[in-house]
Amino acid sequence: MKFCPEIAKNAIIVKDLTVKYDSFIAIENINLEVKEGCFVSIIGPNGSGKTTLLKAMLGLVKQSKGEVLIFGKSINNQKDLVGYVAQRFDFDKTFPITCEEFLRFSLRMGRSVSKIDEKLKEVDMLNEKNKVLGKLSGGQLQRVLVARAILNDPKILFLDEPAAGIDVGGEKNFYELMDYLNQKYKITIVMVSHELDIVTKYTHRVICLNKKMICFGDPDKVLDAHMIEKLYGKEMAVHKH
Ligand code: ADP
Ligand code: MG
Repeated sequence: MKFCPEIAKNAIIVKDLTVKYDSFIAIENINLEVKEGCFVSIIGPNGSGKTTLLKAMLGLVKQSKGEVLIFGKSINNQKDLVGYVAQRFDFDKTFPITCEEFLRFSLRMGRSVSKIDEKLKEVDMLNEKNKVLGKLSGGQLQRVLVARAILNDPKILFLDEPAAGIDVGGEKNFYELMDYLNQKYKITIVMVSHELDIVTKYTHRVICLNKKMICFGDPDKVLDAHMIEKLYGKEMAVHKH
């Protein structure tokens, strides 16, 4: 069931947001609200500003104009409330660190180490906790990165194309996991995705981005052929089934 309560409080408010890299405008005049407990996707062609929007919500890029509020306050005061799985995670695959040790580095002070097992279990990676990080499959590594992102029980989870590099069967499982975390903890999720089928099946709201916000709403309602064409061009619109 698609759960996105309109009466819930706002987890994220983005107001008149513009982000520039030097003089280049990456995203322009974005306005949106994300309700607590909502599973939201961001779609758009390459270079449309998806990663930039996510980073702006996380306070990782400087905004040129406008503001982002996380539960009513600047992200700078709310870092404890967010978890992030970045688009790329580069590390030395020969470095002999286990999944458990890797998570230990991210455990906030004063938190019980039992959180590590708890979260590895949630992402179905508890049996692999003593495996070396560099030896995991793409899908397994993504699950560990999710475990790390939710380790300190954030209220909002941000993911940037998390299923890239996972095989097709594993991808479905990955989205099922996101759905499960969203349902179980009512954690708000904002995820950049390329797969329109996934966006329609799992997410409650979609943000269509092409430097400006082209649409925002229930994917079943807003993602018609016309919108896909507007966003990606004719080629893609024909392939949408
Ligand atoms: P997407 O994630 O949709 O592919 P990005 O947000 O990564 O898009 O990038 C949006 C635009 O901003 C692109 O044209 C990209 O080249 C540019 N850009 C992204 N990061 C930087 C940066 N650090 N410095 C300069 N330009 C950047
Ligand atoms: Mg990106």
